[in-house]
Amino acid sequence: MLPQRVELIEVSPRDGLQNEPEILSTDDKIALIGRAAAAGAKRIEATSFVNPRRVPQMADAEAVMAGLPRPAGVSYIGLVLNRRGFDRALAARCDEVNYAVVATDTFSRRNQGTTTEEGLKLHDEICAAARAANIPYTVTIAATFGCPFEGEVPETRIADIARRLAVGRPHEIALADTIGVAAPTAVTRLIAAVRDAAPGIPLRVHFHNTRNTGIANVYAAVEAGVTAIDASIGGIGGCPFAPAATGNVASEDVIYMLERMGVRTGVNLPALIETAKWLEGRLGRPVPAMLSRAGMFPPAAAA
Ligand code: ZN
Repeated sequence: MLPQRVELIEVSPRDGLQNEPEILSTDDKIALIGRAAAAGAKRIEATSFVNPRRVPQMADAEAVMAGLPRPAGVSYIGLVLNRRGFDRALAARCDEVNYAVVATDTFSRRNQGTTTEEGLKLHDEICAAARAANIPYTVTIAATFGCPFEGEVPETRIADIARRLAVGRPHEIALADTIGVAAPTAVTRLIAAVRDAAPGIPLRVHFHNTRNTGIANVYAAVEAGVTAIDASIGGIGGCPFAPAATGNVASEDVIYMLERMGVRTGVNLPALIETAKWLEGRLGRPVPAMLSRAGMFPPAAAA
């Protein structure tokens, strides 16, 4: 039993571009986001409001937001890692914010300079501020399925974190396989555990395809009833603070699989393939996604 419809959250402008060595111009970022919206993406992670010395790719967050088209029904998400970032995202007129708690202390310190516990306290503050500002708020648990420094992360630890996060009633909890180590059976188990720990809070998933299990993990999540999936045009991306982290699952590959299974996404695939090719031109090299190389099937759909 699969859901009839799944929502793709397009993360290439943020998670995608933040780990590419080339820094795209502000105009190119705006063009990428505009193309994603024109293809039918309704939720787009547009940028992050973090320290520009640590993530220079996102230094123009305010300028990107100021230059975006604002079509009806499209929601722009800003990633924030602290209260200052939240205030910047609000001032830049983000439609939603996404804050990340890292599941292990070592990775959390490297990524955002706090322990997991300190990150949870910040969540309490930002979740309350988002509620006061009446802005949808997602909290992501990063390194859910494994940590580049501490190794395996016990499921009980993720469930405890989810239970703690749920107290503030976030609009959504995202489970992120930041370094691409998950397998589908673990996805199924963890979704059940987090649902028990945070009943009634919608879940979203975020997979990297580092070890080629990304699309299988998407399938497991959709089969478990998750209807919000992060993906990145061309499969670009990674994390600058995790060694050997590679790109997100590719939007076009994920949408192809879902549509072939009869699950609707509302996103125009040929338009995404066009955009993946455009992105290759901007980055100056091929992107990891497979559909843009192989082409649509059946062929008529490519017209
Ligand atoms: Zn990511």
